[in-house]
Amino acid sequence: MPYSGLDLTGRKALVTGAARGIGAALAVGLAQAGADVAASDLPTATARAGLADTVRRIHDAGRAGFGCDLDVSDVASVGPTLERVASGLGGLDILVNNAGIRRRAPALEVTEDDWDAVLDTNLKGAFFCAQAAARLMIPHGFGRIISISSQLALVGAPHRAAYCASKAGLANLTRVLALEWAEYGITVNAIGPGPTTTPGLLAADARDADAVQAELSVKMPLGRRMDAEELVGAAIYLASDSAGATTGHLLVVDGGWTAI
Ligand code: NDP
Repeated sequence: MPYSGLDLTGRKALVTGAARGIGAALAVGLAQAGADVAASDLPTATARAGLADTVRRIHDAGRAGFGCDLDVSDVASVGPTLERVASGLGGLDILVNNAGIRRRAPALEVTEDDWDAVLDTNLKGAFFCAQAAARLMIPHGFGRIISISSQLALVGAPHRAAYCASKAGLANLTRVLALEWAEYGITVNAIGPGPTTTPGLLAADARDADAVQAELSVKMPLGRRMDAEELVGAAIYLASDSAGATTGHLLVVDGGWTAI
């Protein structure tokens, strides 16, 4: 018999930025573990096409689910969207704050627009999604909020000033929310992925395969980039009843990057 502590049957989840990459993998993985899942992303034709594929895979897992528009940096739309999601799913138990962007540039060349775009999505968006989710979870005395931070919450990387600041901020925001919402039965945790092959990472990294491999062989004991599916087990655990005593934690899944 499978271990029931990791079973998400009956749970209702929202994953942001779920049209592709890590968000899509986590949305499908939560469904495969038993949850009904809403998958949200930017209100664009490309994102909607990606969401349709994510939702098809949620349905293939035998779970209910739907896609919806949500630009997490549009704070005014966050509360009403999460209320519609909860209404459509029949509740909201799990939020995965996955939506995130990267804009690489030397610190001397970072513009205010770059800084605001990265912080508005990766940190401010995650906070207001968490706030809206907690308001829906508190009356039920249960919630799981999981934010996708990064191994770069713990160590720096050149040309990623805003990104590293946003991910370190998200890791410590996780601790604050964990302290405030523990009394309501809500756990708040973060996952810190290392380099993971996704459309977003590939688009941001113009280096050839040899240059990437040279860096990985020095900085990543795993010796390769991770696959998004290698993050699914961590998310299922943090979303599950098994993780009731795990809160305020950054669960690093980085192929050993921060072990060096
Ligand atoms: P991708 O760019 O492949 O996917 C992210 C998705 O989020 C895209 O569909 C993107 O849309 C969407 N998105 C962007 N901005 C917003 C917004 N304002 N509101 C809603 N959705 C938005 O990224 P990854 O899958 O690689 O990354 C997912 C998360 O994991 C991010 O938070 C990232 O920082 C984090 N992470 C990724 C790592 C990696 O190596 N891949 C490592 C560590 C952390 P669009 O395509 O239009 O931009």
